[in-house]
Amino acid sequence: MRVDAAPASEREAPTRARLIDGTALAALIRAEVAAEVQALGARGVTPGLSVVLVGNDPASAVYVGAKEKASREAGMAGETIVLPTETTQAELLAVVERLNRDRTVHGILVQMPLPKHIDPDTVIRHIDPSKDVDGFHPVNVGKLLIGHTDGFAPCTPVGIQRMLVHYGVETRGADVVVVGRSTIVGKPMAALLVQSGAGADATVTICHSRTRNLADHTRRADILIVAAGRARMITADMVKPGAVVIDVGMNRIPDASTKSGTRLVGDVDFAAVRDVASLITPVPGGVGPMTIAMLLRNTARSAARTLGA
Ligand code: NDP
Repeated sequence: MRVDAAPASEREAPTRARLIDGTALAALIRAEVAAEVQALGARGVTPGLSVVLVGNDPASAVYVGAKEKASREAGMAGETIVLPTETTQAELLAVVERLNRDRTVHGILVQMPLPKHIDPDTVIRHIDPSKDVDGFHPVNVGKLLIGHTDGFAPCTPVGIQRMLVHYGVETRGADVVVVGRSTIVGKPMAALLVQSGAGADATVTICHSRTRNLADHTRRADILIVAAGRARMITADMVKPGAVVIDVGMNRIPDASTKSGTRLVGDVDFAAVRDVASLITPVPGGVGPMTIAMLLRNTARSAARTLGA
């Protein structure tokens, strides 16, 4: 039996995707922010970021510590307020209101998740939208959707958009598929990319756990952004050759070969997808560092706005 040779393009060894270096880009942004903080200082304003942590969740403590360290390194002022788990909702709201009134505070961030007895939406709605540097307040969510740029966009998706722009990825007219519809990643990601203008103008599809035939959607994507929280759920056969793949997922899986017995992996099967995609973010070192960098940028922007800048 004669077997036709595969076309040349299929016979060639797969080219490995170029890596998007989130750590390096985040360092660049943090340096930009530090310069902005200096310039603001010369005009008499030091950007201040206040982070509120309720309870003693170890992962949250690590995130909060990283945010505080990064803001200090950028020359910002601010504090981390740690409250006990049994803090009542009314007590937490009183802290938020104090920060709302404090003119030295330009950014307020209440670390999620909160203890079960506190309603996160109530807390978010109490933050002054002009200090809501996480971009979770309904006023900022609305501005993002309308396309107004005087609000704050959530840090993770705005960081991803910045990555795409920095790496010269053409979003205009591109088919973008976002897997995940959370209010912190999936929905704002789609809202950013569907706007008209630079770094946007995309045709966006949002997928979630009720999506039928997920792979039919992901295989159409020129840019695939995955924020589902499912370790390595995106396999090579779900990705269009040459696609740009952004992996937001952070999942701890068991790994006996490490000291901690676990390892951090994304939502994308990195080793396999790297042979199909043209550009891909690693985990760690991809989206994660960008999130903190954009938080600093939002805080500096908030401070600048107090000067009418
Ligand atoms: P959520 O759990 O809030 O949302 C996950 C979304 O994925 C939901 O919309 C869910 O659908 C969807 N989903 C889950 N399983 C599937 C599936 N099998 N097929 C299709 N869709 C699915 O998570 P987050 O958005 O908060 O976070 C997502 C991941 O990103 C997590 O791993 C998180 O740790 C990470 N993350 C990383 C950040 C960073 O800075 N690197 C920042 C924020 C998050 P449905 O709505 O139907 O349930």
